Amino acid sequence: MKASILTIGTELLIGQTIDTNSAWMGSQLNALGIQISRVVSIADDHEMIVDALTNMSEEADYVFVTGGLGPTKDDITKTAIATFLSVDQYFEESIYKRIELFFKQLGRPLSPLHREQCYFPEGTQFLENALGTAPGMLFATEQCKIVSMPGVPYEMKSIFTTGLLPMLKEEAKHLNYFHTMIQTAGLPESSVAELIQPTIDQMPEGMEVAYLPSTGVVKLRISARGSKAKQSVEEYVDKIASILGDYIFGYDEDLIQTAVQKLMIDKGLWLGTAESCTGGYIGHMITSIPGSSQYYKGGVVSYSNDLKVDKLGVNPSTIEEHGAVSEEVVKEMVTGCCSNLGVDIAIAISGIAGPGGGSEEKPVGTTWVCVGNSEKQIAKKFRLKTNRLLNIRYSSNISLIMLRKFLLDL
Ligand code: AMP
Ligand code: MG
Repeated sequence: MKASILTIGTELLIGQTIDTNSAWMGSQLNALGIQISRVVSIADDHEMIVDALTNMSEEADYVFVTGGLGPTKDDITKTAIATFLSVDQYFEESIYKRIELFFKQLGRPLSPLHREQCYFPEGTQFLENALGTAPGMLFATEQCKIVSMPGVPYEMKSIFTTGLLPMLKEEAKHLNYFHTMIQTAGLPESSVAELIQPTIDQMPEGMEVAYLPSTGVVKLRISARGSKAKQSVEEYVDKIASILGDYIFGYDEDLIQTAVQKLMIDKGLWLGTAESCTGGYIGHMITSIPGSSQYYKGGVVSYSNDLKVDKLGVNPSTIEEHGAVSEEVVKEMVTGCCSNLGVDIAIAISGIAGPGGGSEEKPVGTTWVCVGNSEKQIAKKFRLKTNRLLNIRYSSNISLIMLRKFLLDL
């Protein structure tokens, strides 16, 4: 069973909107074992849409299309689909009534453009859009099925999840595909590969391992097809787990914060953060997981030296002697955070996020991370790159990886 994805919108081609729809749909389809043969992005252009549908419908069982369903003139996907199918468009009263109700509930007036939005190619099967005005559409041609959805990611996801997923699951049952993600941290990709290669060499035909490294974490996707897919994947996940041990912090959708949260709650400890160069990003990562209030008290965004002194009790002479980005300062930030915030464990970070502010001795990207309690502090220096936002994300991740290690060693 093969699928292709077509994302439509001029904004996708010129960097104004990043195409997240294809990534999301790709992961949903892959999880069902459906092979994705192509992902194509094109402009809101009638001829190009017709061409793309013609080519893609020849090679796939499903073509998933997003974008170009808005009420404005630049959205022409429906007209192009009608041309591709060689059918006329008709006015669908029930959809108009739905849109009328939708706007009534919002307390907003209906525009004549919304009437235009209710013309659909003959033969459309509707997929409910609970979150917006443009419904999803399904067209069955002789070769394949075409699904067209709005570009707005949350509307697309809602239509896909409620209107398509149950049907796709049923159709993909026979594919016997199974995969598990292993989440590792603390080892570079090459070391992970070296350790597990002998095991991978023993895998049966049809099994695959993919390495997905990102900001301090290496994910391994172990997948298999066939009647024994689940059994084979589970067997090899166990083998890999016995090799990588504590470097594995979770499986599938687990995040490093999830692993930290579990350890902190199990140990009954309270955490605080003292963030300089990450400006609160570590606190944001921690609090994006439900349940974080059970172990995270809060933090100080001590961006300036003044706040490092006033709120965290860092000695001004330590800053003067070693600089704000130094081992000595992050250690004092940890002990100060523990005593001033009344927490058991603290993370502290101070670095030069860039692009300015570097020196020969401390170039842009120099970052000190410290994790510890009032007795013991473990500090590490990292030399990150020059991209400010990347440095913030990377060093926040690193600090949580260090916290996990600290907790495992307690
Ligand atoms: P449209 O359905 O073409 O009117 O798209 C509505 C909005 O959805 C656009 O303003 C885009 O910001 C967003 N959008 C469209 N296509 C995508 C996509 N492939 N990925 C993420 N966002 C998108
Ligand atoms: Mg558009």
